[in-house]
Amino acid sequence: MNHRWAFALAAGSMLLAQAPAPAGAGTGELERVGENGRDLIVMGVDAPGFDKLKRTQRLQAYYLTRAAIAGHDIYYLQSHRFARDIRDLFEELYEHREALDPAVAEAATEYLKLIWANHGNYGHWSHAKFTPRNLTFKQLQQAVKAAKKKGARFAIRKGENPERLLARLKPFIFDPKVEPLQVNQQAGADLIKSSAVAFYDPGITLKDIEALPAEQQARQNVRFTLKRDKRGRRVVEAEPFMVGGVYGEQLSNVVFWLKRALAYVDNERIEVEKDGQKKVRFEPVAVQKKALEDLIAHLQTGEEAKFRDYSVAWLKTKASVDYLNGFIEAYKDPRSLIGTYQANVSIRDEGLSEALDKLSQNAAYFEAKMPWQDAWKRAKVEPPLASVVNLLVATGDGGPMGPVAYNLPNAADLRRDHGSKNVMLLNVENARSPKIKQQILEAFYTAEDQPLMSRLGDRARNWLVYLHEVIGHGSGQPDAGLAEDPARKIGPYYTALEECRADAVALYQFLDPKLAEIGAVKAEEHLDAAKALFLAALTRQLRANGEADGEAIREAHERGGQVILNVLTEAGKDTGVSVLQKDGRHFVQVSDLSKAREAVKDLLVKLQTLKSTGDAAGTADLFDRYGTRVNKVWQSDVKARLEALALPKNTALVFPKVSAVLADSKFAKAPGEGEDPRKVVQDASLSTGESFAEQMLRFKRWARSRDLAPQ
Ligand SMILES: [Zn+2]
Repeated sequence: MNHRWAFALAAGSMLLAQAPAPAGAGTGELERVGENGRDLIVMGVDAPGFDKLKRTQRLQAYYLTRAAIAGHDIYYLQSHRFARDIRDLFEELYEHREALDPAVAEAATEYLKLIWANHGNYGHWSHAKFTPRNLTFKQLQQAVKAAKKKGARFAIRKGENPERLLARLKPFIFDPKVEPLQVNQQAGADLIKSSAVAFYDPGITLKDIEALPAEQQARQNVRFTLKRDKRGRRVVEAEPFMVGGVYGEQLSNVVFWLKRALAYVDNERIEVEKDGQKKVRFEPVAVQKKALEDLIAHLQTGEEAKFRDYSVAWLKTKASVDYLNGFIEAYKDPRSLIGTYQANVSIRDEGLSEALDKLSQNAAYFEAKMPWQDAWKRAKVEPPLASVVNLLVATGDGGPMGPVAYNLPNAADLRRDHGSKNVMLLNVENARSPKIKQQILEAFYTAEDQPLMSRLGDRARNWLVYLHEVIGHGSGQPDAGLAEDPARKIGPYYTALEECRADAVALYQFLDPKLAEIGAVKAEEHLDAAKALFLAALTRQLRANGEADGEAIREAHERGGQVILNVLTEAGKDTGVSVLQKDGRHFVQVSDLSKAREAVKDLLVKLQTLKSTGDAAGTADLFDRYGTRVNKVWQSDVKARLEALALPKNTALVFPKVSAVLADSKFAKAPGEGEDPRKVVQDASLSTGESFAEQMLRFKRWARSRDLAPQ
C-alpha cells in the first residue's frame, strides 16, 4: 500500500518535513510544464548521506540503482500496449528537435515530458487519457518527415515505415474518445473490456477471466493473452512476468544487476566477546541477502511463492541501503490483483530513523493509552519496523512520480503473520518549491497563525504521518465475539474508516508527554506544535473540498479526513475547533486544544467501536453523513484560491545520478558480458545537475546496457 495523498497535494503542501537541505546545482524547482506550468512541476532532489556510507554500501547502492533502471521500461509496457512506442516516437523527435519548426518542437516536447512523468498518455493518479495540447496530427506528420531527413529513425515494428507507424498510433495519441480510461472501476461496466491497461489483450472480457480456473484468476504477476485455437475458438492464457517470459528482456537485465548487488549486501555491526574483550565484527545482513536471493529466483521463475519469501525477508531488513524491486502495487489493475513494476534504492537517514525507532519501541505504551476499552487493545504489540530514508532513484510505478511513503507487503496474510515495514521518503517529502510553500501559507492560514505554521508546521506534519503509520494502523483489535475479518464485514467503507482511525490516533496521541521524551518535539514547544498539527491536518481537509471535482469525495484518506473535519467543526458543538469565515475565505481555527483533543478522543472511541464490532451500517452512516459529500461553500472558495495560485497539479522528480568509479585492473580477468576486462569498479559516486530530459533519456540508455559506465 502506498501513501500517495500527501504527494497528490505535494506541489501545494506547505507541510514539510525538516528544513530542506541547502540547494545544490540541479536541486529545487527545475521547470514547469503545460499551460501556465500547471500540468507538472519538476523538482530536483539530492540524497544526503551517500558520502557517509561505507565503500561497499555505495557499491551495493550502485548495482541496485542499475537494477532499478533496467526495469524502467516495463511500466510503459504495462501502462498501455502502445505507450512505449509513443514515447520512442517523441523521443526520436526530441533528439532531432533542431530540424523542426520551433513551435511544433515545443509542443512535442511538452507532450513527451508528460509521457515521461506518467509512463504513457494516461494520468498516473487519475488513470484518464490526455492528448497533446498544441499539436495536430498534420504537424506531427511534418515533424516526422523533417526529422527523418536529419537522420531520425522511426521504424518501431519490423516492416513498419513512419507513415504506417503514425497511422497506427494516431487514434491513441489524438482521439480522447479512443480508450479513454486506463483503469475503469465503475460498477456495472465490464472492467476488463473498458480498461486500456495492458494487463489484458484487447478483446478479453471479464467473463473470459471469470471462466479461468480460480488459481489463474488470482495470479499477480501475469498478463492475459487472447489467442485462437485450431478451430478458431478463443483461448485466454495467463503468461507470467519472468526472465524468458513476459518482459523477459528487461527482467534479465534486472537480474544481471541484482546478482552483482548480492556481493555487497549491507553489513551488520555485531559485538562479540573474545578472551574477555569486546570486539566489533561486521557480517552481511542475513535477511537482506535472503531477500535478494528470493527476488532473483522469483524474477527467474515467475513463481509467486518466491516473491512472498522475498517480501517476508524484506520487511525484516533494517539496513543502511534498502530497495524495492518487482511487481508490487495493484492500483492499475481494474481487478486490483496484478502488480505494476516499480523499483527504488534508498539510504537510511539515521537521525530521524532513530527517533522513529523510539516511537516504534513505545508502540505498547501507546496501545495501553488508547481511549477505547481494554478488550479492544492488543495485549502484545510487536514494535513495527519503520525507517526514514532518502531515495537515490525510483523507477516504474515509483518514479519519477510516486508516493511519499509506503507500508508493505500488501498480502494480508503476510502482514498478519509477519508484520510490515513503514518507509518514509524524506527527500521526496522535502521536494517542495519554497515559493509555492509561502503562497500556500499566505492563502490558507490566518495572519495570526502564519508565524506558528512557518515555525512548526513542517515538523508537526512529519509526525502526523509517522504517528499515523507507526502507531495508528497497527493499533486495536477486533472484539472477541466477531468471527469475521472487520474489513470483510464492513465492506467498501472499510479503507476510509481505517485511514480516519489512523489519523485520529495521530491527533490524539501527539499531545502525550512521550513525544517530548523521545525527542519528537521540544517540551516547551509541545503545545504550539500540537496546535500546528491540528491546523495542518484540518486545513488539508478543507482544501480537499476545493480539489474535488463534482460533489463527492472519493479517495479513502480524504474521506477519513472529512469525517474528522466535519465532526470537529459541526455547528452547535463546542470542540475548540471551528471553520471561520473572513472576507468570503474560510480558515480552520483552533481556539482550545484540550477541548479539541477531547472531541478527537470521542470520535476515536466511536471509530474503534465500529471497527472492533464490524459495524457496517454504523460505518456507512458516519461516512455518508460526514465523509463523502463536498461542502459546496468551502469548495467554491477553495477552488478560487487554488485557481489564483495556479499551482502545478503533479510533481515529477529528478534524482541524483549514481555512477561507478572505475579503475584499471591489476590482474587480467576473463571478460564478463558487457564488461571491460581491464577495468574494475572501485567505488560509486553521486552527482546532481541533470535536467528532467537528460535523466529520462539516460534511464532509457542505461536500461539496455550492461556496461559499467555507459554513456
Ligand atoms: Zn494510512
